[in-house]
Amino acid sequence: MIEEKRIICPVCQSKTRIEIREDTKLETFTLFCPKCNKKDKFMYNT
Ligand SMILES: [Zn+2]
Repeated sequence: MIEEKRIICPVCQSKTRIEIREDTKLETFTLFCPKCNKKDKFMYNT
């Protein structure tokens, strides 16, 4: 079973709108946080 999880903003610790699946491998992508209202380059390691 594949679990979807939301990425948590590393700045404010709130959930972003970006959802990832466990079988998705993301190394670097642009994270947008609606609470911080800014985009950040962000490293996520699966
Ligand atoms: Zn944030």
